[in-house]
Amino acid sequence: MVSKKSKGFEALKQEIIDRNLCTYCGACASFCEHIELEPDPTRQVPVLKDECSLDKEGVLKCSENGTCYDVCPMTETDVEGLEMKFLDSEGIKERDEYLGIYKELIAGKTSIDGQDGGIVTSMLTAGMGNELFDCVIVAERGEDFNAGAKIAEYIDEIEKAKGTKYVQCPMVSKIGEAVKGGKRKIAVVGTPCEIRAARKIQSVLLKDVPQIEITTIGLFCFENFYHDKLAKKTKELLGIDLASASKIQITKGKYLVTANGKTYKTKVAELDEAVRENCRYCDDFVARLADISVGSVGSEDGYSTIIVRSERGEKLLDLIDFSRGDVDKEEISKTAKLKHEKFETAVGAGIGG
Ligand SMILES: Cc1cc2nc3c(=O)[nH]c(=O)nc-3n(C[C@H](O)[C@H](O)[C@H](O)COP(=O)(O)OP(=O)(O)OC[C@H]3O[C@@H](n4cnc5c(N)ncnc54)[C@H](O)[C@@H]3O)c2cc1C
Ligand code: SF4
Ligand code: SF4
Ligand code: SF4
Repeated sequence: MVSKKSKGFEALKQEIIDRNLCTYCGACASFCEHIELEPDPTRQVPVLKDECSLDKEGVLKCSENGTCYDVCPMTETDVEGLEMKFLDSEGIKERDEYLGIYKELIAGKTSIDGQDGGIVTSMLTAGMGNELFDCVIVAERGEDFNAGAKIAEYIDEIEKAKGTKYVQCPMVSKIGEAVKGGKRKIAVVGTPCEIRAARKIQSVLLKDVPQIEITTIGLFCFENFYHDKLAKKTKELLGIDLASASKIQITKGKYLVTANGKTYKTKVAELDEAVRENCRYCDDFVARLADISVGSVGSEDGYSTIIVRSERGEKLLDLIDFSRGDVDKEEISKTAKLKHEKFETAVGAGIGG
């Protein structure tokens, strides 16, 4: 075997994982047989289960820097290049400093009782019903309000996954599994970091599997939590076991947990110790690279705010029936700006410091 100098998993570990920058998206493990996601729920990082074969010629076809390094959302990313590649540059109606590229900004509510307006679940089921997708990657609720990434092929599986779980789960790890299982039209829903990873994977995949179609539905995200710490804080502050909760919501600076028919609340700032470290170094609130982004900020309770970015996103939204509400662009920009400022402050203080 001949050695060559490259980045590979070693650099990913040094630059991202060991500095607590890993978002646990699972992109690095999606296509490489040497990486597995640490099963210990308190660690949530990828680990090398045997030897990385990047530096060994003739063993595995891997990119120059290592595919795991290239697809990680936290390594250097040409966001503008990906926007131009995937968000139909010719049809761009507007490029906003805080909202990114978008064609339309809407508030909507469907008949599905989802986290907000049920827009995500409605679009996913409509897309599946109209054969736009072979499968959909969703986050299903696990024990204790944890989340697990799932490849859903049936409408009832998609419906069952409705609702927000405020914890990270490796959505992007499932793209590899779906492709290996013969799927070519894949929809993935995820936080902005997961959508970024999905786009990076899509760029790599298109070289080898040109017929691949990935539809990305992004969720607004200000921050996310370690499951064990969130459970502990919820018990400490509200006296509730997450297992008994029917809904968790973070809105307007409040953390609300509904359990046994009652809603308990506290300030979201009280959860600071449970916030994932990597989220302090993230400046994308609106999933700028998604075909369509959905959140609650900017619309009334019970409605979803929808940012349509690409033709693919536009087609998907056209499939569903929804009633329209008012949308407050300033409120979304204000939150996106605040996230950007927090990111600048954290970076200024030193990464991992
Ligand atoms: C960690 C996190 C933080 C968020 N923070 C904000 C915020 O600060 N401000 C804001 O406006 N909106 C935020 N959202 C988005 C918001 O909570 C709703 O998901 C969004 O408004 C869609 O509502 P809906 O009724 O259309 O979705 P639904 O129809 O209920 O569908 C929700 C979809 O989200 C998926 N999902 C649930 N949990 C996760 C997860 N952890 N990772 C990946 N996918 C998941 C499910 O698979 C489901 O398909 C956040 C979402 C997440 C996951
Ligand atoms: S993707 Fe490539 S660089 Fe990364 S662990 Fe696998 S073989 Fe090594
Ligand atoms: S690709 Fe995702 S799971 Fe892998 S190191 Fe990067 S952030 Fe972590
Ligand atoms: S804050 Fe950023 S890094 Fe954290 S889960 Fe949300 S999108 Fe990912």
